[in-house]
Amino acid sequence: MNPAEKKTARAVIQLTASPGSESSFSHVPAKGAFSGLKELAKTLLSLRGRGVELVEFAGGEPTLWPYLPQAVALAHKAGFKTVSLTTNGRRLADAAYTDALVRAGLDAVVFIFPSHRPAAYAGATGAGPAALGQALAGLRNIMRHGKVERGLILPVREALAGDLESAVKFFGGFGFSFITLAFDAPYDLLAGGAVRDLAEKYRLLPGVLAALPRLKRHGRIIAEGIQPCLLGRYGKIVLNETFSNPGVLVRGGGAEITALPDAYTLLGVKTSACRGCRHAARCPGFFAGDAAHIPAAPAPHSAALDLQDGSCDYNCGFCRRNRDGVRYHALDPKKYFASPDRGLLRAFFSSSSAFSENLNIWGRDRTDMFPGIHAIIKQARDCGFRRVTLWTTGLRLADRKKLAALAKAGLTGFEIPLYGGTAAAHDAVTASPGSFARVMRGLDALAAFGKLRADFHTVALKRNAATLPALVELLTARCPGSRLNLWHYYSDEPQNPEVSRAYAANVPDYKTLIAAFARLKKPLPLEVRTAMFPLCVARRLLGEPLPPSYVARSFALLICNERGALHKSVTNAEFGERHVRACRGCPAAADCAGVMEEYLKVHGEAGIRPVRR
Ligand code: SF4
Ligand code: SF4
Repeated sequence: MNPAEKKTARAVIQLTASPGSESSFSHVPAKGAFSGLKELAKTLLSLRGRGVELVEFAGGEPTLWPYLPQAVALAHKAGFKTVSLTTNGRRLADAAYTDALVRAGLDAVVFIFPSHRPAAYAGATGAGPAALGQALAGLRNIMRHGKVERGLILPVREALAGDLESAVKFFGGFGFSFITLAFDAPYDLLAGGAVRDLAEKYRLLPGVLAALPRLKRHGRIIAEGIQPCLLGRYGKIVLNETFSNPGVLVRGGGAEITALPDAYTLLGVKTSACRGCRHAARCPGFFAGDAAHIPAAPAPHSAALDLQDGSCDYNCGFCRRNRDGVRYHALDPKKYFASPDRGLLRAFFSSSSAFSENLNIWGRDRTDMFPGIHAIIKQARDCGFRRVTLWTTGLRLADRKKLAALAKAGLTGFEIPLYGGTAAAHDAVTASPGSFARVMRGLDALAAFGKLRADFHTVALKRNAATLPALVELLTARCPGSRLNLWHYYSDEPQNPEVSRAYAANVPDYKTLIAAFARLKKPLPLEVRTAMFPLCVARRLLGEPLPPSYVARSFALLICNERGALHKSVTNAEFGERHVRACRGCPAAADCAGVMEEYLKVHGEAGIRPVRR
């Protein structure tokens, strides 16, 4: 497809899974063949109904599908603006066949040539010594039809090593509208999400970089399947179309229509190096196979699996989350719907464990009850995570059998919410009488069990602010060596008057919090980290020189929702912070995002003042 059309709604139709143009650089492995024209016609109409304007017939090798000319005619008749074919071109050596395709309404052909040299071509395709000649004859046949646009894909593989410039020069004479340098796909999704070794990519990269300045003379060069930053000043030529212009994918063997980038975008991981990167919108990030080759090791960042399903133990007053108006707490605790795809989980775990030692498993704080949780934990450990932390209310931890089963699966610890330093404060926030006492019993059992770590988080609220120092003291006494994460209250809903009212009712002002924490002796006897607080406030709360905020600003997140679908959000979490007047000249400004806009609306700038180093 012509990259100029990259914003056109498109569909890639995999007519057949038969080998041919299918190779490991494809990011969307084929599944099975379309049964016939009837199935295809139905699919085409459905795609038109969705507003798709560009249809690409792909495979496997689409010319091996017996009804390709009829398929092109059907697509043309259905009113698609562009009907395109991605092929090895060998079948097009048959002039009558090519003429039939063009007559049927073919608008564009994208040829895949692993090499321009017969032996290398034969070696890469396993198609025999005459194969390159056939493919070139097919290309010439298409050239006879001047109105059919031509594109070229050159897989950046060993067959092209040291020969790229010569190949581009050779093909430059065929008048392609674009020449795509396609790098290897980072995962083999057909093999259950197995990570590919990307050593070849990095071995060939210097040669590509050296050749790039001269390649432009021979045509419009595009790169696919690579991170723009790896191409340095040529980063702009990267298209990564599967990521930046996804469209839909229709696979044969069921004509299932799925979002095209599902697999590809799911597996990229944005590292701290990606923060503020100008290419981020069209780049999925790094993959597990990249980790060993990235020159500057990325700073550790966080990975999380979010099991957004089922009900919630608590009915917290500050939380407004609901499903179709029903608060999570009111949902049936026995009903779960999600069934994560194990192949994609494996790929996600393998990818993110290359960048992070710990996997957090989030959810609605009943993650310990999620069906199949033991298998998920085991899979995460098998895929390389050194630690797996389950975020749960902790209400069921007194059950020693449960602890033993989770530890056996590979769990290394829990992260437990405690919303106040006293039973009254915690139970009032959770609206769950007796919950504090149950968590304490669970902590006793956990201490006796001895093999699983407990860490904690809390949210600073108006109603619990005065009791938070008592929480620090309580955990120091009961769980020495644990960590407490102190979160700023924030809203993850789109702003509206109701949300703003709820925010104002809950968020405490910094002065009150600082005054409450003043009674604690510094340095604190417990590791306390703040999240989303301005650094100057965090410093006065914790009494350390410049406590870092612990929340990772970029992390790999896989959300498993109630419909069983898996979504990937590569989040560069921002919480609407900004610097204020008081920040002028603050030496911490480069490390501090400032104050949340919502907080400023409620409490203003009081309590913000530049830090002194
Ligand atoms: S987003 Fe990250 S991986 Fe992608 S180009 Fe930028 S720095 Fe590289
Ligand atoms: S004065 Fe501003 S920049 Fe400095 S630590 Fe406080 S909020 Fe951050």
